[in-house]
Amino acid sequence: MTTKRLAVLTSGGDAPGMNAAVRSVVRTALERKAQVFAIYEGYQGMVEGGDRIREMNWDSVGGILNLGGTIIGTARSDDFRTHEGRRTAAKNLIDREIDSLVVIGGDGSLTGADLFRQEWPALLKELVESAQISAETVEQHGNLAIVGLVGSIDNDMHGTNMTIGADTALHRITQAIDAIASTAASHQRTFVVKVMGRNCGYLALMAALATGAEWVLIPENPPHMDNWEEKMAADLRRGRAAGRRDSIIVMAEGARDKHGNPIGSSYVQKFLEEQLHEEVRVTVLGHVQRGGSPSVFDRNLGTMMGYQAVDTVLAAQPDDEPQMIVIRGNRIGTAPLMQCVEQTRAVAKAIDDHDYERAMDLRGSSFKETYRTLRTLLRSLPHASTPGQKHLRLAVMNCGAPAPGMNTAVRAAVRLGLDRGHTILGIANGFKGLIDGEVQEMDWMSVNGWAATGGSGLGTSREIPSGRDFYAIARTIEKYDIHGILMIGGLSGYQGAHHLFRERENYAAFNIPIVCLPASINNNLPGSDLSIGADTALNVIVEAVDKIKQAAVAQRRCYLVEVMGRKCGYLALMSGLATGAERVYLHEEGVRLNDLVTDVEQLRLGFEHGKRLGLMIRNEDAHEVYSTNVLCAIFEAESNDLFEVRQTILGHVQQGGDPSPFDRIQATRFAAQCIDFLIEQAQTSEPESAFIGLEAGGVVLHALEEMPKMVDKENQRPKHQWWLDVRPIAKLMSQPMPTWQLEQEA
Ligand code: ADP
Repeated sequence: MTTKRLAVLTSGGDAPGMNAAVRSVVRTALERKAQVFAIYEGYQGMVEGGDRIREMNWDSVGGILNLGGTIIGTARSDDFRTHEGRRTAAKNLIDREIDSLVVIGGDGSLTGADLFRQEWPALLKELVESAQISAETVEQHGNLAIVGLVGSIDNDMHGTNMTIGADTALHRITQAIDAIASTAASHQRTFVVKVMGRNCGYLALMAALATGAEWVLIPENPPHMDNWEEKMAADLRRGRAAGRRDSIIVMAEGARDKHGNPIGSSYVQKFLEEQLHEEVRVTVLGHVQRGGSPSVFDRNLGTMMGYQAVDTVLAAQPDDEPQMIVIRGNRIGTAPLMQCVEQTRAVAKAIDDHDYERAMDLRGSSFKETYRTLRTLLRSLPHASTPGQKHLRLAVMNCGAPAPGMNTAVRAAVRLGLDRGHTILGIANGFKGLIDGEVQEMDWMSVNGWAATGGSGLGTSREIPSGRDFYAIARTIEKYDIHGILMIGGLSGYQGAHHLFRERENYAAFNIPIVCLPASINNNLPGSDLSIGADTALNVIVEAVDKIKQAAVAQRRCYLVEVMGRKCGYLALMSGLATGAERVYLHEEGVRLNDLVTDVEQLRLGFEHGKRLGLMIRNEDAHEVYSTNVLCAIFEAESNDLFEVRQTILGHVQQGGDPSPFDRIQATRFAAQCIDFLIEQAQTSEPESAFIGLEAGGVVLHALEEMPKMVDKENQRPKHQWWLDVRPIAKLMSQPMPTWQLEQEA
């Protein structure tokens, strides 16, 4: 059998995470015994041929995970838009017997790829007729297989929840707006911040949600009224009167009024200066949004999508519809490429036609829902309650270790509850506060600024109630007339909530709905693929490891980095995937002496062959005996002086810091659904209790009585952990060479 030959290119605008995708495509292809080429400078390189099309090996994609942009270059190509250009491109591929393509780019690039695929047979025919290639070649490579990966910071592609690069762009934007917010607050100034997005308001919407901005302008949903400027000014004035010191307006590049007239940032600035009689400053974020080191999410998304892309393109049959790789509800899959592109174009068309309802519909339900939530959160005061409605008193608390995003969730819960006309009570220090009666009414401004801060403003504790505590809790619930509880926290909070639920028979006061919102950096909670705080912790770990790697490379060192997670290896595995660690030690897998022997041998082999850096990541509880210290001692003793060993225990920095954009967004979305749940259940005679989560199909609520069955009690983690399936990908990527080659060497 002849070896399959495939090529990968990046095209259109660059996006952080493209390198992870390229690395993954190259290594997966080599693992599958295919030959793989990189086409430099996008389609232009394909037309130019020569050394723009280069064969890649395992090491040609080493050390690039942490780099922004794309190392194989990207370009816009007018040549490729012409028939002649594409014919030359086809010749360049055929000359190298390449008939499979992985294209990483936006909708333009993917449309180009599909056109090329359709034309391929005709292009080859022309090349045969002009005697540039042989008829035999055509027989062997008569069809071009393509698969698309979406690299775009705008997150503007239909069919996938996220595109490669959007999360990193959000990191850049939220960092910038957080920084602006502090200077704005100092001077009581108003800032207009313009972010990218011509036809897509994703970045503006999510950035406004994540930073607690006061106004947002997106192309898909312009202000409905003609005098929107006056409304905006009035809202800002009300915000000031309510005590807001900073006012931030986030606008997308493509912001427009309902008639389709573009809204410029300087227009907004001038109008507000006249109205508010204060200085208004404009910040256009521009290309910083595209740049810099990719976030953990984008690295791992690129890696997982690249892996899927190779398997999809290698399995493609001539009559198959070309596919695009997508992520939906945290699972990688495929979707018909051109359908996705057409739906994406339909949004742009709906905006052009001023059909904003359709534009929002096409963006999907979670986008619409987020927009609605945002509209409430950014109000300066809640709506007045509707006369005659039942007035509820709902409590919110944090339990377990602090997790970044807890405050964001509390803020959303407080404001959304108040806006629905209810009273929200904050409980200090988790169940401890519920026992001691530390309860305080929360008002709108009491959570001002909480969207962006880490830690727990309410205070949290690991206390799990038992025995006499129940009596005290029942008294607090009665005294404060609490109709429902939102517990935002970790496993101890889940257990505490379940205990109250179980004790309903004995304490009538507990016959209220309780809902748990997963917040723990460890990501060890049942019923949710992801918990709030884990994404932030991962980014902290990976930033630290990137620095360690840079320092280590000069010294022939092997680093062993210990990360948190208790007995759940999520942080270890995912940070290993994002940094290219060659070994990850997990409690789920255990550590065996035999494995350590192999690890040492591989390290020695690597350093003998010129390797300059080793990186291993160990989960803090991976093994009782083989501690970080012991592993380091073993590696050092066995290093044959080929390398030094150092350990780094990252510790509590992992629990700290401002929450990442993803944690803020997810915290807000969860909180919104939890408040809806409590309001609904509190008005029934037999209220249900639940825990919320994000699973393959989207957001789900599980009945609280199911919780114990889903937890591995001994190890304090869910019985089913989806991310364990990612291990083969992590292993493949971090090997020194393909498995078949490793076996040959052995
Ligand atoms: P993006 O992929 O980010 O949407 P562009 O729309 O600029 O970026 O497309 C990148 C490149 O893809 C273009 O410069 C061109 O070479 C190619 N391309 C885009 N659309 C087409 C098309 N309809 N036919 C052929 N090539 C196209």
